[in-house]
Amino acid sequence: MIDIINLLPDNIANQIAAGEVIQRPASAVKELLENAVDAGATSIEMHLADAGKTLIQVIDNGKGMSETDARMCFERHATSKIKNIDDLFHIRTMGFRGEALASIAAVAQVEIKTRRAEDELGTFIEIDNSVVRKQEACACAVGTNICMKNLFFSVPARRNFLKSNASEMRHIVDEFIHVALAFPNIFFSLTSNGQQVFHLEAGNYKQRFLQLLGNQYSTKLVAVKETTDYLNINGFVGKPEAAKKTRGDQYFFVNNRFIKSAYLNHAVITAFDALLPKDSFPVYALYIDLDPSQVDINVHPTKQEIKFEDEKIVYAFVQAAIKHALAQFSISPSLDFSL
Ligand code: ADP
Ligand code: MG
Repeated sequence: MIDIINLLPDNIANQIAAGEVIQRPASAVKELLENAVDAGATSIEMHLADAGKTLIQVIDNGKGMSETDARMCFERHATSKIKNIDDLFHIRTMGFRGEALASIAAVAQVEIKTRRAEDELGTFIEIDNSVVRKQEACACAVGTNICMKNLFFSVPARRNFLKSNASEMRHIVDEFIHVALAFPNIFFSLTSNGQQVFHLEAGNYKQRFLQLLGNQYSTKLVAVKETTDYLNINGFVGKPEAAKKTRGDQYFFVNNRFIKSAYLNHAVITAFDALLPKDSFPVYALYIDLDPSQVDINVHPTKQEIKFEDEKIVYAFVQAAIKHALAQFSISPSLDFSL
């Protein structure tokens, strides 16, 4: 009998692992924008062609990378954001798994130009199918300029699963909105096939919400603010008259990370109680900040689902904060300060 088990070559292992992280252009958009945020950028520009299928370019003015790091960042499990298992419980960055760039380079053609402020010259790298085609010194601005071209060019089965440009673009805009809402202090722009989609000057949470979702909300938002030893809640909810007939414009952020939570959504709905018109959904952007040790964000590769150490407390605080906010604006007839 001969032995039959092989270790897969890196490029195949990367391509398989990429399936978890990069499902469509919007997943790459999320990862690239989050990397720019983690690099401390104050300005992030994104250009797309064909709804990201042929080009996603992200240009940031963050801290850039050294020549060695520019090469290392495409290795799997290569990250500057954690060093040991303890760090997992103190995460303040968007990334930490060290998988995104390795995954992107396994399923697309990538070009990167990056420079740190202390270096005179930057580094240019061209990589596809996880193979470096070119690496050289180059003149470039401080920060990182990364282009991802022809997503899934070497994986036709995956390419064929991509939806229409309009549908992929909707997913991209959703991801863009999540990051832009979470970081209103950063300038963001988005162009698609040369057309400007968003141009968002830095501002505060409310200004960013109105820039992204429309000035029709300007007189219809109620501020939510609650500070406790356990957590802080900031943001706003739409007055009952701003509620929508479809679910949408509902955003939760935990330590600046957009999350999906049917459980917390329920806390918001119940806080409105009878104030909401039947079959309508409240609009909100709520920012919850708490000690990172109280949340596990490593539940899913895309990190949109998280686990709270004590989700009942978070639920109760969210509900109380909203009741309180609505009551202050005399919107609620019932005052309930049971917390
Ligand atoms: P993660 O973000 O989980 O660490 P990534 O694969 O997304 O993993 O990135 C790997 C590493 O490359 C990051 O930890 C960071 O050090 C570096 N990096 C990626 N994008 C940028 C960027 N835009 N600017 C500076 N460094 C970056
Ligand atoms: Mg990352």
